[in-house]
Amino acid sequence: MDVTHADPTHVLQSVFGYETFRPYQEPVVQRLVDGGDALVLMPTGGGKSLCYQIPAMVRDGPGIVVSPLISLMQDQVDALQQVGVKAAVLNSSLGRKEREAVEHRLTAGELDLCYVAPERATRDRFKTLLSRARPSLLAIDEAHCISQWGHDFRPEYLALADLRGDFAQIPCIAVTATADPPTQRVVLDRLGMTDEDRFVAGFDRPNIRYVVEPKGNRPRQQLHEFIEREHPGQNGIVYCLSRNGVETTADWLTDHGHTAVPYHAGLSDHKRSEHQDRFLREDGLIVVATVAFGMGIDKPDVRFVAHLDVPKTLEAYYQETGRAGRDGRPATAWMAYRRGDVVRMRQLIDDSAENDEHRWTQRHKLNALLGYCEAPDCRRKVLLNYFGEDMGGDTCGNCDNCLRPPDTWEGTTAAQKALSCIARTGQRFGSGHVTDVLLGKDTEKIQRHDHDTVSTYGIGADRSKAEWRSVLRQLVAKGMVEVDVMGYGALTLTEDCRPVLKGRETVAFRDGAAASASPNTTKTA
Ligand code: ADP
Ligand code: ZN
Repeated sequence: MDVTHADPTHVLQSVFGYETFRPYQEPVVQRLVDGGDALVLMPTGGGKSLCYQIPAMVRDGPGIVVSPLISLMQDQVDALQQVGVKAAVLNSSLGRKEREAVEHRLTAGELDLCYVAPERATRDRFKTLLSRARPSLLAIDEAHCISQWGHDFRPEYLALADLRGDFAQIPCIAVTATADPPTQRVVLDRLGMTDEDRFVAGFDRPNIRYVVEPKGNRPRQQLHEFIEREHPGQNGIVYCLSRNGVETTADWLTDHGHTAVPYHAGLSDHKRSEHQDRFLREDGLIVVATVAFGMGIDKPDVRFVAHLDVPKTLEAYYQETGRAGRDGRPATAWMAYRRGDVVRMRQLIDDSAENDEHRWTQRHKLNALLGYCEAPDCRRKVLLNYFGEDMGGDTCGNCDNCLRPPDTWEGTTAAQKALSCIARTGQRFGSGHVTDVLLGKDTEKIQRHDHDTVSTYGIGADRSKAEWRSVLRQLVAKGMVEVDVMGYGALTLTEDCRPVLKGRETVAFRDGAAASASPNTTKTA
């Protein structure tokens, strides 16, 4: 098929049979067609493939797609061939003859798209091939694998950065469905891209209402009341941390008039598939599950996803709650949250045998989760912000905090103290040390850095350690402070904190166990 130099929309319609681009595909496609680079973050199903397939066809030369998943590569190539695109794979599944045939087509200009595994892409032999093939672009799938902060670091991806360097003149597009801002940073840096190259979109699920309830002594009763109140007799998934929690919760719900079945890795294969089938077929069934449930399950009319225990990370939370409301109709993501559960998770991380770097990443992710649970304002904003998607100045109107603003306390002075303390200690320290300086503690680290001589030493003695920790976390959630991953957790100030430091803007913090102990607490309705 010769569509070189055609217009992207024409290719979309004539080759792929779609009427229009999704709103966030068009600018990416245009940028690549114009010779620019892009880092694209979109959730699974968002339509990332077209973002490189179409520019590859519009521009001269073959598009090279590096993808780590052999089976997915073959699926994509089959689908492309079916619509008449000249596509092929180069991976270890090929025999020598087949491989040479693909290589020949690649250099002879007979391919629109060539999919290749990362370990092959970085070999010298392939680089030589590429210089002869004059590729139209380089696409890197699952780009988060290039970062050690991602959950799926792959050493062979580091060599991809070199490949990119060798072909710096051709457009490069990196795509992923999962990368928090530090991971995005690393991907951009390693591939020689800038902030302007970043496109984050499509993460919002506007029909899902996000709700977090303080977890009391009878969380199952709370769950029961939530279901009765908002989703009686409807399909739902309830996530618990442990198998035991799953079993007892399923029994408890059944005793209280719900139709509920357990699902976890400890059940027999037979039971698991039976419960999964029931969930897919029946109406009004609740599956109580550990995280093992949900992969590849596509039931459109799940009306609620409930977490009786906090999830491990915000990525996990987004993925698990994303199973609600696939049909686009209203659904609820409900969570019962207690600070103690997070403290326990933190303890598990601290005590784990993992290396420091890994532990540090886990702690960072847990803090982000905490920021979400304790957010005083729009939860959707916190969630989207975590992935790097900007909701602008708006709030969503469809989360608990937007619908019923929580009790907050006037925290402008506290915020100013915390922000100045970060500034005075040079924006090089984590929340533990900053808190110690605020409290006027006498630690070895404070001695070593002479931090008992800075003007903010001890100015926070009116509050407890837990309060300051909460203030700092909330400042991060508000985007006034950033956690520098490369600097091992150093807190740094962002532009957004200036109006507060200058007294031009006020800050409210969410009331929590910690804040309510404060003598300065004032409640605003
Ligand atoms: P991702 O790689 O982001 O998970 P895909 O590229 O596989 O997503 O696309 C997901 C689905 O959306 C596919 O079935 C694809 O054909 C469809 N799709 C993508 N872009 C469009 C579009 N502009 N119009 C209609 N369907 C689209
Ligand atoms: Zn909201």
